[in-house]
Amino acid sequence: MSSLIQNAQRLIIKVGSSLVTNDGRGLDPEAIANWARQIAALRAMGKEVVLVSSGAIAEGRVRLGFETRPTGVHELQACAAVGQMGLAQIYESSFRAHELGTAQILLTHADMADRERYLNARSTLLTLLRFGVVPVINENDTVVTDEIKFGDNDTLGALVANLVEAEALIILTDQRGLYTADPRKNPSAQFVHEARAGDLALEAMAGGAGSSLGSGGMLTKILAAKRAARSGAHTVIAWGREDNVLLRLAQGEAIGTQLHSDRAPLAARKQWMLDHLQTSGQVVLDAGAVGKLRDEGKSLLAIGVCEVRGEFSRGAVVTCVDLAGQAIAQGLCNYGSGDARRIMRKASSEIESILGFVEEPELIHRDNLVLM
Ligand code: GLU
Repeated sequence: MSSLIQNAQRLIIKVGSSLVTNDGRGLDPEAIANWARQIAALRAMGKEVVLVSSGAIAEGRVRLGFETRPTGVHELQACAAVGQMGLAQIYESSFRAHELGTAQILLTHADMADRERYLNARSTLLTLLRFGVVPVINENDTVVTDEIKFGDNDTLGALVANLVEAEALIILTDQRGLYTADPRKNPSAQFVHEARAGDLALEAMAGGAGSSLGSGGMLTKILAAKRAARSGAHTVIAWGREDNVLLRLAQGEAIGTQLHSDRAPLAARKQWMLDHLQTSGQVVLDAGAVGKLRDEGKSLLAIGVCEVRGEFSRGAVVTCVDLAGQAIAQGLCNYGSGDARRIMRKASSEIESILGFVEEPELIHRDNLVLM
């Protein structure tokens, strides 16, 4: 069996609180330097890496001198705010040692549910990757309430995998992977080397088992794998202290529990997009634009649009129709209806002088477009 990671070009790597903070004792510079070294090697292999790191609350707790995890929401949020400074600092200096820049991104659930923020987060992440920077993501714990919480960074890692169409999600944790039952209680428990992400039997195996530091147990990891698979990403759950774990996975060695997705990446992401979003307007395409979309698989440019119908904001899903009114495609529009009306029939190079800014050169990028 070989590693699902070997051929992945874009990876999300999630590290949990107990690993990052040495079981709650405080940030572990050696472990972090070790992952930074391996991630730098992955970058040198041409892979793009986004890091999702927990540990803000655990580190803040140490810095603020709490003996045990506080229970008050605002105390936890204060811990997160203090600890996040430590995370940002240690990641920046650990990656700098390999001449890699880092960028801090703090997200909430509301950022993913709001189409405009979703698009902005996606564009910024992709731009950072293009710049060769390693984005370091955490939940924006200081502002979240229950309604907008991801709750755990396993889920956040999966959503980020959906967001940037990563091919793989690696969840590094303090366990070696998934067992068929709790090995501490059941001597006949077997290690699960490989399974299909989304297989319901896995959820029964994983039931419960969390640690007191982070918020995710094995079950949240299994559910994260299921979610990541919706956009075609495979997931590996592995022990973060395993010697050169990331490098060995990238070289094809099967380590930990590998959960494969049986969907093609882009098709699944588009499906995911359409499942979640409702259409709110129409753009009418000239015959040239219809041909570009349908026969050449190109993006929709403003120049090919002759009418914009309805009121919608940036990030809305719009239906593209031809001159006879027949639906051709649906996609996420980079401009709201007002701006779209001002730039329709115009070349992309004119957008800046008309609007005073450019969101994207395309009206709808082909990655965000589904032909009907
Ligand atoms: N965002 C939390 C932190 O940085 C961790 C959430 C989790 O445990 O997954 O402390």
